[in-house]
Amino acid sequence: MRLPETWPMMVAAPTVEKIYHTPLLELIHHAHEVSLQNPLPLLKAKLLSVKTGACPEDCAYCAQSVHYKTRIEKHPLLPTQEVLNAARQAKAEGAQRFCLGGAYRQAPTGESFERLLEMVRGIRSLGLEPCCTLGMLTPEQARRLKQAGLHAYNHNLDTSENFYGKVVTTRTYAERLETLKILAQENIAICCGAIIGLGEAEQDRIDFIATLVSLPKAPESIPLNLLTPIAGTPLGEQKLGNAEKIALLRLIATCRIFFPKSSIRLAAGRNQLSLIEQLFCFFAGANSLFIGERLLTADNIAQESDTSLFRLLEKADVS
Ligand code: SF4
Repeated sequence: MRLPETWPMMVAAPTVEKIYHTPLLELIHHAHEVSLQNPLPLLKAKLLSVKTGACPEDCAYCAQSVHYKTRIEKHPLLPTQEVLNAARQAKAEGAQRFCLGGAYRQAPTGESFERLLEMVRGIRSLGLEPCCTLGMLTPEQARRLKQAGLHAYNHNLDTSENFYGKVVTTRTYAERLETLKILAQENIAICCGAIIGLGEAEQDRIDFIATLVSLPKAPESIPLNLLTPIAGTPLGEQKLGNAEKIALLRLIATCRIFFPKSSIRLAAGRNQLSLIEQLFCFFAGANSLFIGERLLTADNIAQESDTSLFRLLEKADVS
């Protein structure tokens, strides 16, 4: 497979489409070659919900939106010490990155923001990479987070611009892109991913990758999620099967080809994959995952179950 000469800049959607539609095993083979040429360490991240629920946005997949009746335990912003204790624990469990998730439309101002800055400083001083996902940011907020030692900021595009309005109506794709632009301007590493299983078409996944390619700065991390249907949300009855898992493989492999240096992270929905399916995702180009039993409000994977995966991924000789 030959990459276009303009790669990795200015790649048009038809080029992404051509690569995405390569026969599956050829696509994965090529993505694996790219991984071998640009070896990346296994990056383990842990995500803590520091402010849960009561979010004014209406993301159709989310348990934390005020628009849906779901069974979650809401809480305001956690005390700093509690967050730093969790970060310490994450480090002891092997995490390199600690992410703070807050259910906000826009990062808060005033005392709450000051506390978040304090958390970022504390996480940095523990020797972990701090990451936040707090909704939209102003340039000033981005600057202050960067000064506090923030490594990366997560702001997912979820899907294509075309399909976005079917998933979220309380904000626009353009607003999402604006925050990503601010992050690039403030030189904060961008973490930006997608969700499979929203009811999107293949073209939406292709267009999502084409949008990533056109960002002012390549994402440092790309978290790829399989929808976790949550009762009470509009997507609570969505059924996922092999088609979505194969789409995940295509998405991972295509992203690896276009972003040889980015961390491609298996994020939510990893508990829907068998050990072998997860290994195949790593073969296709993933190099990162979330550890821990909870991922915001959803179940992730028990530590014991991940032990075999890490043994297989990290040790050359496995018995
Ligand atoms: S995904 Fe984030 S922004 Fe959307 S409703 Fe949930 S917490 Fe709010």
